[in-house]
Amino acid sequence: MLFYTTICIRAKFVIGLHPVNKTLFLNSKQDIRELSKEDLRQFFKKIGDKEFRGNQVYEWLWTKNAHSFEEMTNISLATREQLAKYFTINHIKVDKMQRSNDGTIKNAVRLYDDLIVESVLIPTETRTTACVSSQVGCSLNCNFCATARLKRMRNLNPDEIFDQVAAINQQSLLYHQRKLSNIVFMGMGEPLMNYENVIKAIEKITSEEGLAMSPKRITVSTSGIPEKIKKMADDEVKFNLALSLHSARDEVRTKMMPFNRKWSLASIREALEYWYRKTKSRVTYEYVVWKDVNDTQKDIDALVKFCKYIPCKVNLIEYNPIDDGEYQQADDQALTAYQQALEQERITVNVRRSRGKDIDAACGQLANKS
Ligand code: SAH
Repeated sequence: MLFYTTICIRAKFVIGLHPVNKTLFLNSKQDIRELSKEDLRQFFKKIGDKEFRGNQVYEWLWTKNAHSFEEMTNISLATREQLAKYFTINHIKVDKMQRSNDGTIKNAVRLYDDLIVESVLIPTETRTTACVSSQVGCSLNCNFCATARLKRMRNLNPDEIFDQVAAINQQSLLYHQRKLSNIVFMGMGEPLMNYENVIKAIEKITSEEGLAMSPKRITVSTSGIPEKIKKMADDEVKFNLALSLHSARDEVRTKMMPFNRKWSLASIREALEYWYRKTKSRVTYEYVVWKDVNDTQKDIDALVKFCKYIPCKVNLIEYNPIDDGEYQQADDQALTAYQQALEQERITVNVRRSRGKDIDAACGQLANKS
């Protein structure tokens, strides 16, 4: 009977509200964070309680990022038990936390289905940045990146992305006595291949009912999927866009990032021009200079030319070697040549040193090694 009631309530709430997930609910409890505030209010109404309980539970789930129903102390025990009967909270668990001697923290995050992703806290003098994952593994095959070796297992849900940020915010308060200030989607995965969930997570992160962070402090980094860049522009997103360029020459880029065959530099350029026309927001190009790969004058000239299409900034990132040694960081001379050429054309350029290398927490090193 109990089982039958559960299914009925689920049927009302789930099959009605989340038709896509129908199949999930016969065997497992529904994750309560799939429900909107209004869904929660309706749930309480249906079980004969007050609708505003929905607001209270919603606040526990998002503003207070509760891991369990027991934490919801302003909700009666009987109501909490009822919630636990119908729902679960698929909160992430930080399985292992490693601290680098430069203050960087890497989290191995366990998901409800026991898959693991990684997220990183990067402190500087003035800010704390969270580097978060958007997929388990990655669907792209950049051959200089450790995550690419893992292949894509699945997309992260919005709440799994949100939880990584909330956990790092807690760590920032604990270890650096200040709130998280910035977020970069530069962990595992290609955020634009999980577009809907990334957008939903950012909505929660920026909402007053979530972490109330400014979208201007959030950067989504992509390898460059033209149609999704245009969609972001159409959706009038307010966060920043970074593009992992690494070469402005198709023949060179395709060797490192084989999907460049499909999404060529010309199509990326067109999408970026569209982005800039609509958003007036300049793009950051991430760029690693590798020895004997993209360290010639021809490469520099191509980048300078590419940088003139729309207002941009270039981050020259240090290469973090992954184990096979196929790629090596170019000499300082090559980096200086890039820097000078860009500066001469008044293009903003920063040289970014890696953080957390001793714990494999730097860009492109996230591969669930420990
Ligand atoms: N898929 C997204 C985000 C994840 S990678 C993207 O491609 O932008 C985050 C950044 O780290 C990207 O610029 C990526 O090209 C870079 N990266 C990957 N492997 C790296 C490595 N071994 N050393 C330095 N940067 C790396």
